[in-house]
Amino acid sequence: MTLVDVIEKLEAAYPPARAESWDAVGLVCGDPAQPVRRVLFAVDPVAAVADEALEWGADLIVTHHPLYLRGTTTVAATTPKGRLIHRLIKNDVALYTAHTNADVANPGVSDALARTVGLAGDLVPLRPFPDDPWRGLGRVGELPEPSTLGEFAALAAQRLPRTSWGIRVAGDLARPVRRVAVSGGAGDSLLGAARAADVDVFLTADLRHHPASEFVETGGPALIDAAHWATEWPWLDSAASILAASGVNVETRVSATVTDAWTRGY
Ligand SMILES: [Zn+2]
Repeated sequence: MTLVDVIEKLEAAYPPARAESWDAVGLVCGDPAQPVRRVLFAVDPVAAVADEALEWGADLIVTHHPLYLRGTTTVAATTPKGRLIHRLIKNDVALYTAHTNADVANPGVSDALARTVGLAGDLVPLRPFPDDPWRGLGRVGELPEPSTLGEFAALAAQRLPRTSWGIRVAGDLARPVRRVAVSGGAGDSLLGAARAADVDVFLTADLRHHPASEFVETGGPALIDAAHWATEWPWLDSAASILAASGVNVETRVSATVTDAWTRGY
C-alpha cells in the first residue's frame, strides 16, 4: 500500500471538505508515494506518540489534533513541533490529521464516545448540518435502562480511559438519567444545543466555571466534564476499524499513551 491509497480511504470516511474553515486537516508530512504497512492512531501529535510510532515501526501516524493549527514560518528543530517533524521525516513516518471532519462524520468522534459510555440505539447529532441530519457535532442518544446521574458518571469513569483529570459532575447524583448528549473534546459551544435537546445530562470536556455554573443554575441538564483526551480516544478504535475494513492491507494500532495535558491530580 502507498500513502495515497490509505489517505483515499481515510478521506472517504472523513471528507476534508467537512472540516471547519479554521481547521487544518490532511497530510502534514509524508510523500503520497511512500509505502505504508503500519498505521498508528493517536489523539495528539506529541513527542511521546512519535516515540511509540518509531518503536513500533509505524509508517503513518493518524492524529485527531493538528500539529500546526495556525501558520508557521519554520519547522526548525529548535521547537517541539519542529523536532517532531524532523524525527518523522528522518524516519519516513508520515503524519495525517482528521480533526473537525472526524467530529462531524457518521460515525465520528462523538459516536465512539456515546457507545463507550453505554448509549444504545440511534444516535442523532446534537447540532446537525442543515443539509444532512445524520452528520454534525455531538450526539444524542439513550441509555438502555433508566439510570441516575451518579450511576452514569461511575459508568463513564469506568469505561473511559483513566486520566488524572478524571470525571467531574455538576448536578444532583440521584437525578434520573436516560436521555444523554455527548460531545468529544471541548463542548462549551454546544451547551445551548444540549439544553434545547432536552437531555438529562451532557457529557463533554473542557467546561469552564462560569458557563457550567450558569447552565446548572438555570435548571439545565446535569453536566459531566471528562478529560479532553479521554473523550476523543474512543474514536481511534473506530477510525482504525474503518481503515482496516476498507480493504487496504495495513496493520493498525491504537496508541495507549495518555497525552491529556493534565498529568497529575491531587
Ligand atoms: Zn480535541
